[in-house]
Amino acid sequence: MSAQSSTSVTLPDARAAFEHVSAHIAEHGIEPEPLSAAHHRFRYEGSTIQLQHDGAALTIALEAPSPNMLYFLKESAALHLAEIDPVAAEGLRWSDQTAPVHQPVNFSELTLLRRSRTIPGMTRLTLEAEDVGVLADGGLHVKLMLPANRTRAPVWPSVAANGVTKWPKGDDRLHVRYFTLRSVRPEAGEVDIDVVEHPGGMISDWALEAAPSDRIGVMGPGGGLPPEQQEGLLLAGDMTALPPIARILESLNPEASGHLVIAFPESADPASYLPPTTLDLRSVAPERFRQEVVPIVQAIGAEHRIRNAWFGGEHANAQALRQIFKRDFGLAQGAQLSVAYWRQGRRGDARRETD
Ligand SMILES: Cc1cc2nc3c(=O)[nH]c(=O)nc-3n(C[C@H](O)[C@H](O)[C@H](O)COP(=O)(O)OP(=O)(O)OC[C@H]3O[C@@H](n4cnc5c(N)ncnc54)[C@H](O)[C@@H]3O)c2cc1C
Repeated sequence: MSAQSSTSVTLPDARAAFEHVSAHIAEHGIEPEPLSAAHHRFRYEGSTIQLQHDGAALTIALEAPSPNMLYFLKESAALHLAEIDPVAAEGLRWSDQTAPVHQPVNFSELTLLRRSRTIPGMTRLTLEAEDVGVLADGGLHVKLMLPANRTRAPVWPSVAANGVTKWPKGDDRLHVRYFTLRSVRPEAGEVDIDVVEHPGGMISDWALEAAPSDRIGVMGPGGGLPPEQQEGLLLAGDMTALPPIARILESLNPEASGHLVIAFPESADPASYLPPTTLDLRSVAPERFRQEVVPIVQAIGAEHRIRNAWFGGEHANAQALRQIFKRDFGLAQGAQLSVAYWRQGRRGDARRETD
């Protein structure tokens, strides 16, 4: 069943706001379907966004396949409107939010059940939640969060009247990082999240130290759709990207073809972590991966036609490979994705854009 909401906001220049929000959606590669000069419809992964103005007010009507997606669309709309009119964005009210909402619909607490060692350098956290089912659909990634000051009791995010997430500030600030749901088992009420061990990382340290029944906040899921093109694939990533790579491999059809380049400990067998694959596998020791992945990918691209490329890993590698995917492989938006999963020497906050 779809979830719906709408809002109408009076603005000094409703037409300029209509054009700004419309152009911003188009920048994400979602083209408008003009229903009239003052009424655009956008369709994206099962959701519909309608923007309309009459010169005095901007109306936004949203329809999404899940409450989680609707929450994301409402928040995005309010944040984009705030770029041009913060006061109007603050005053925005949604038709489906008639009473105060205390927690974002996509927030829950996870409780640690047990930890195990998947491969050297990676800890598997098995966690339970009241309703694990909500994590089963809508994407691969979640935001995990802990109080930045670990001596304090958590104050979790709440929701402002305009639909935007209110993040605790000051002493109650949260440390928020992206992770991937390696598996979700609604029938058992459990999820697995695999965390790469890197001393000094707050969530990485929590993964090693937390005791059963300790709790961590989670928001999501979102992102990480599998590639549509399944011939001439190139998937590459360091150990932080092994969980999404495993899930992408699980989703591919049996005829999928292409190449897989991963960081993997020499003492272990990739088949002990990854599902069976028809892709040609090249595994590189994690300590050499950052130096070697770019020339390896270039060499594969020089010999084979790559139709869809995907990378997750350290920032400098992600930057270099994005250029190669676009310039050397000639791949358009939608056929290539290169994402910085972490950045050497810098803490990465999942509330900021990942480049
Ligand atoms: C979409 C997405 C999905 C992700 N999925 C996973 C996942 O399933 N499993 C996973 O382990 N990671 C995953 N990551 C990466 C993870 O978010 C980062 O590694 C994050 O910085 C870890 O948080 P932290 O609190 O442990 O360390 P932080 O406090 O963020 O970092 C502390 C220090 O550690 C360094 N650092 C961070 N990550 C690493 C690393 N991997 N190796 C060496 N040094 C590091 C930083 O440069 C910083 O100096 C994902 C990232 C994205 C964007």
